[in-house]
Amino acid sequence: MSYLSEREKQRYSRQIGLIGEEGQSKLSRSTVLVAGVGGLGSASSLYLVAAGIGRLIIVDRDFLELSNLNRQILYSEKDLGRPKVELAAKRLKELRGDVEIVPLKIDVFEDAFEDAVKDSDVIVDGMDNWKARFRINELAVKYRKPFIHAAVGEWYGQLLVVLPGKTPCLHCLFRNAKPPEKPPSIFPPSPGVMGILEAAEAIKILTGRSISVGKLIHIDFLRMEFREIRVARDPNCPVCSKLAES
Ligand SMILES: [Zn+2]
Repeated sequence: MSYLSEREKQRYSRQIGLIGEEGQSKLSRSTVLVAGVGGLGSASSLYLVAAGIGRLIIVDRDFLELSNLNRQILYSEKDLGRPKVELAAKRLKELRGDVEIVPLKIDVFEDAFEDAVKDSDVIVDGMDNWKARFRINELAVKYRKPFIHAAVGEWYGQLLVVLPGKTPCLHCLFRNAKPPEKPPSIFPPSPGVMGILEAAEAIKILTGRSISVGKLIHIDFLRMEFREIRVARDPNCPVCSKLAES
């Protein structure tokens, strides 16, 4: 029995050798929540849609500004001033007509965001602040959804896969993270690289491949140095310590 149409077999012919028709079919039945379609979310959503994710919920309440265009590759000059989720939905549908995009022009603190978390298989962090990330982390733990965190600032990027009940959550590791006094400068390719790494981990989670568990990946783009930092759960973490190992 074949899981895919002839067109799908052709479209994904260069990846089916890695994930199989069954894996490809799983992607087409999956929902990924991309929380924030800025620099990180631009890159992750393009790769997720290209790879065949069936349904993408994209969340962002912002409008496109000129200073976004040095790194947010979903958008163009002609789009300035328009809501990002609307623009992102249009661009992603151009890439693949049969993807279902659910654009939500909301804040992550709204109830509708909690519903979106419940409705998704994997959550991808495209946020630019810790307050919003901690909210997503709490919901991911509450509903036991895999959550892929990435962040960028200046010459650096970091990546962490949170599997609630198995690996440290963001609160375990970053509860004392201080918000910067002003938005940091960002080396333009860094959110692209980190967003693509998020898409890579999401695709592997959805197709049952090995993922980066229990390590924080840190990249120094200026020196081009990659570090893997072993991390462990905090047994007293107020967010995730009540979840038994599963
Ligand atoms: Zn925790």
